[in-house]
Amino acid sequence: VHRSADETAFPNGARFAFTVVDDTDVATLDNVRPVYDLLTDLGLRTTKTVWTHRCPDPHSSYRDSDTLEDDAYRAYILELKARGFEITWHGPSMESSTRAEIEEGLRRLRDWIGVAPRVHVNHAHNRDNLYWGVDRLDQPFLRWLYRKAGDRNVSRYEGHREGTPHYWGDLASEVVEYSRNLTFTDLNILRVNPTTPYKDPRRPLVKWWFSAADADNAAAFNTLVNEDAQDALEADGGVAIVATHFGKGFANAGRLNSRTAALLARLAAKRGWFVPVSTLLDHLRSRHERPTLAATEWRRMQWRWAWDLVQARFR
Ligand SMILES: [Zn+2]
Repeated sequence: VHRSADETAFPNGARFAFTVVDDTDVATLDNVRPVYDLLTDLGLRTTKTVWTHRCPDPHSSYRDSDTLEDDAYRAYILELKARGFEITWHGPSMESSTRAEIEEGLRRLRDWIGVAPRVHVNHAHNRDNLYWGVDRLDQPFLRWLYRKAGDRNVSRYEGHREGTPHYWGDLASEVVEYSRNLTFTDLNILRVNPTTPYKDPRRPLVKWWFSAADADNAAAFNTLVNEDAQDALEADGGVAIVATHFGKGFANAGRLNSRTAALLARLAAKRGWFVPVSTLLDHLRSRHERPTLAATEWRRMQWRWAWDLVQARFR
């Protein structure tokens, strides 16, 4: 069941909504600044995640990422906040954090940037991830398949498990408003999950969950946000929340990927509502009659997520 354009009407007569949640993997000041400067010029305001702690592990695949411990990067993050971008975190660090480190990360976000992580996105295999691995799913067959074929770390996530070294679910329930679970290949998230954001009584330490469209890097982003997909998003009165990594291939030596630049300029010329993730989700949630996901919708989402993963593997 799709909501009609009328039911999802957006402020200021906008016909659709588009935003981005940018996970900060391998992001540096040099490789993300061209993207954010263009978004600024085009009037698009999105959500940028940061890490509060530099990586203690020299072998981490994310070790070259900038964090709030880098002065020039931190100054740029403050600049983005002043321009109207939403700043939130991708957890405290590129590798696992203990509860004490998580508490310190929350302090740094508050003291250095003046924000709480209203939006939370789990990162890779960090043990402090909330309801991650096999705990993302409820369908018994998909859980079995995930254990068999998927991530070998399926059960190591402890963010939501009280009494473990990585537990912070109680803190999350106070500061986090929205967390992302499943992602899909459809740009318009309402086609897969019309009740986004939603409450999930099985995962109660997160107040609201949302879904997103997945685009790992610049090439995937350019495919996802192609001209036809933009036009369909507008015609359907849809909502796009793109989960991507602006650190992955969007800019090289200070120059933005020209295809990305052209696609964003085309999108920005349309009558869309281009606000950060939590502004958009606040709006969508105010329109819900019933915040809890229907069992049929949740079942369909899990199968669709698994299907999209299989397709991606064989593409
Ligand atoms: Zn990540």
